[in-house]
This record gives sequence, C-alpha cells and structure tokens, in this order.
Amino acid sequence: MTKLIFALNDKINTGEREKKMKCAIYARVSTEEQAKNYSIPAQLDLLRSFAQANEYEVFKEYIDEGVSGTTADRPQLGELLDDARTGMFNVVLVYRIDRFFRNTRLLLVTVEELKKFSVSFKSLTEPFDTSNPMGEFMVSLLGCVAQLERDTFIERSRMGTIKSVKEGHYMGGGRPLYGYTYDKESKTLEINDKEAKLVRLIYQRYLEPYSSLKKVNDKINDLGYRTRKGTKWHTGSIHDILTNTSYYGKWYYNPNHYPEPIEVDIPAIVAKEKYDKAQKVLQQRKIYAKRNNKYNYLLLGVLRCGICGRSMSASTKQCVKKKGGKEYGPYLQQYYYCFGRMLKKGCPMRWVRKDRLDPLVWNKIKEIVKNPALIRKAIVEKEKRSGPTNAALKEDIKGIDKKIKDCESERQKILRVYRKGIIGESDFVNQIKELQEEKDALNQQRKEIELRIESQVYIEDSLKSLENFVRELQERIDNLNFEERRELIKLLVRRVIVKEDGVVDVEVIVPQVDSQPGGKGESHEKQPTCFPSIAQLRHISW
Ligand SMILES: [Zn+2]
Repeated sequence: MTKLIFALNDKINTGEREKKMKCAIYARVSTEEQAKNYSIPAQLDLLRSFAQANEYEVFKEYIDEGVSGTTADRPQLGELLDDARTGMFNVVLVYRIDRFFRNTRLLLVTVEELKKFSVSFKSLTEPFDTSNPMGEFMVSLLGCVAQLERDTFIERSRMGTIKSVKEGHYMGGGRPLYGYTYDKESKTLEINDKEAKLVRLIYQRYLEPYSSLKKVNDKINDLGYRTRKGTKWHTGSIHDILTNTSYYGKWYYNPNHYPEPIEVDIPAIVAKEKYDKAQKVLQQRKIYAKRNNKYNYLLLGVLRCGICGRSMSASTKQCVKKKGGKEYGPYLQQYYYCFGRMLKKGCPMRWVRKDRLDPLVWNKIKEIVKNPALIRKAIVEKEKRSGPTNAALKEDIKGIDKKIKDCESERQKILRVYRKGIIGESDFVNQIKELQEEKDALNQQRKEIELRIESQVYIEDSLKSLENFVRELQERIDNLNFEERRELIKLLVRRVIVKEDGVVDVEVIVPQVDSQPGGKGESHEKQPTCFPSIAQLRHISW
C-alpha cells in the first residue's frame, strides 16, 4: 500500500482555525477492485486514523460500494455534496484522489463546488489539500494524471489485443463467426462441422449457373436450415458469407487506429479459388441485375396507347399478390403505361404487364422470321426508307450541335451579367440550372440520333450478306440476346398498339406475301412507303 504522507498534513490548518475541523470521510470501491487490496475497511481505517491524528471531528462516513469512478450516479457522493451545501463539515477526506473522481473535469467541477461552501478537499496519499492555492493546483494536476493513467490503461489493453492477434489469436469478441467455434484455451477458431457444411453449400449453390442470392436463400430455408438464433436466413447474410475472407482462411483484425489490418490464419472452410470465383460472379450478377431491371423492355419506342395514341413508357411497380388468403411480396412488377396518364385529364389506359405483352409480340415476330422471304423484303424496304433519313439524321445532329454551342455562349452571357451585379445570385443560379437542363436534353437527343444512325449502318452491313443474315437469324432466333431481339423488333415492327380490351395490333413493316395472292403483292412493292400489315393478337387481361 502507498506510503502515507502525514508530513505535509501538519498543524497549520488547525492552528489557524480556532474551531475544531469537522470532516467528511468518503470511500469508494468498484466491483472489480473489491477483489484487490482496495477494500472499504482498509480505506476507512486509514481515513479514521488520519482524522484522529489531525484532531478532526468525523461528521459522517460516506461509502459507495461497487460503483465505478466514472459514473456520476453515486448515491453517497450525492448525499455528501448535499451535506456540504448545508455546512455540515469543512473538509472532505479521501484515501486517494481517484476514489473521488476519475474524470478530471468532474473532479475539478466538484472541487470548485465544494469551495463555494468553504469546504476543502484532502487526499491522504497525495501531498496537498485544496485549502491552499498550491494544493488546488496539485488537485488539477493529479486529476490529469489519473485521467492519463486511465487512457493509458485503455491503450495498453488495445495493444494487448493487437499483440495477441499478432500471435495468431482470434479476438473477434462476442460470438465467433458463423461456421466456427471459439476455443478459449488456444484462443483460436475451430471449424464447426454442422455450420461449415452450410457455408460450403451456400458457395456451391451460388456458383451454379442462373443462381442468385435469393435462389440460394430460398433453397437453404426450404431445406430447413436456420440461423443461430433459429430464424430463417436472409439474402444479406448469404451475401456476407460469400464476401467474408475468413472462409478461405484469412481473418483480419482491424482496430480503428491501427495502421493496417492484421492478418490471422484460421482454418479454411472453402477454397480460395471458390471464394474468388464467388466475388466475380457477384459482380457480374450485380451488373446484370441492374441492366435487367432498367433496360429489358422489348417494346419501348414502338408501343402506342390504343386509347389516346400516345407513346407508352415503362416503369416498375411494387406489388403484393393475394392468393388463398395469403399475401406474397412485395415484389417488383414491370409495366408499360401510357404517357397520357401523367396529364391533367389522364388517359384511362391501364398499366400493361411487360411479362405478358413482350412474349405475345415476340412470338409473332418469330413467326414472321420463319418466313425468309418476309425478312428479305423487310430489310430492302427498310433500306429504301433509311437512305434519305440517314442524311436527314446527320443534318439533325448538326442542328443540335449548334444549339449546344448557343447554350455555352448563353452561359457566358449570364456569367458576365452576374459579375456586373445586374442579376442576383438566385436568378443566376436558376438561369444556369435551366440552361444546364436544356443542354442535357440536347445531348441526350444527340445520343439517340447517333444510335439510330448506327443501327442503320448495322442494317446496311447486314444487307451485304443478306442470305447469311437470314439463315443465321433463323437459326438463332430462339437464342438471341436482348439487344439482338430489340434490333429485330426495330427492323420488323412499325407500331404495336395496345387496346383496353386486351387486343394488341402489331403493325409489321412487311407485306404479308403469303396472305396476299398473285398480283396484289406486286402492287405493294410499287408503293413508295411500306404498307404496314397488321397482326392482331389477343390477350384476355393485363
Ligand atoms: Zn393513352
């Protein structure tokens, strides 16, 4: 135990004051300290004998047991401060300053408070008391030291963890990672066979073709696997397992301030190659999912509303399906909708489900493609029409470029006017914003025209090997990717009109040779523009 310094606690105070000093004794011990030497009786013994030696009258002993130095919630301390306020004593005695407060700020605030009531503060083991300025200074200094010691303690324990991690110990805290159990003696992770089996299954299932996080998740839930908490698995946890390096044997400890993560070898559950492959596939599926959701509308651009004649656009809606009293979802459903819906007197055309309309039209297209004569005709017709149009499109681009240039000079003009202070900041911001929007719209338009030119070049190229193209198309019709299918639609379809009663008119840019006998077919070819033939398809409800 620290040597007591009685020497400084001489008779100066008592000598100066005529009255006998009344003191309050404060003792505290925290739960973890109770096991050590800091017992309450020991503290009290020393404080009492100190009071006696200095001829202090002990007013009361205040004892907080099993509380920490940081919590402000100490009942006896509160009482002590109340009694100080009513002048029940002139000095507070503690065994050590950190018995009173560990936090410097709280210590200083409290000492200040006591001073207001003419109560000083004395530590047995530290050479000062607050009845003199030197002592006050010492209090704040020691408070600082106590705080510093505490910080050092935290730092030391952190360094302890780092050292332990560097020795190859798992210090993940709490519950060990799924798939492992923690061995307390060796401080290492061991494979939990039952859980590891599921981890391997998740990797295996996810790497299968056409798999997805959701499919894996549904599968393992169906197989009866449950989380440690006994709940169903979620796709988020599946993703976590697929992206955690621990499973191929590398666990990383990365405390906030440590310069770089520390690598710890743990038993691997899956091979590194499998893990790497999973990362690649995750990336690919992410890109695919994005594309798939946003751009896989086959009929955008050719679809018209059968009620008001406007173009139809596409969007996804969140749906909930009710079946047999049960609710499914929410899930995303893709729809086409009439632009007219957005207007004031909205068009009453209902939303049309993409998954019903696209296959309906696509099947018709396949039928047409199976007739090579039709394709050949379609391409020739298209070429006839695209000739002059192509030049016109290039002319359009020139016009747009000029407008974009105008936007830039307009911007410079606004900037000049603003600098001269002719317009205010909010006007300036608004005008620049409007201009930017206009420019964005122009750029968008330019891109679209460029695409159209490109697609015509594609058709022209195709014409050069028309026979091959037709043959290839027929062979591949069932395996075309989305872009190719869209190209084909653009080539063959002029408009698709959806009507409220479920009837769909597909206006094909192909004379229907087979349905028009003899000379009639020729008369079609003489027409300057291609006469659309209409295929009527029917779907009961959208
Ligand atoms: Zn409409």
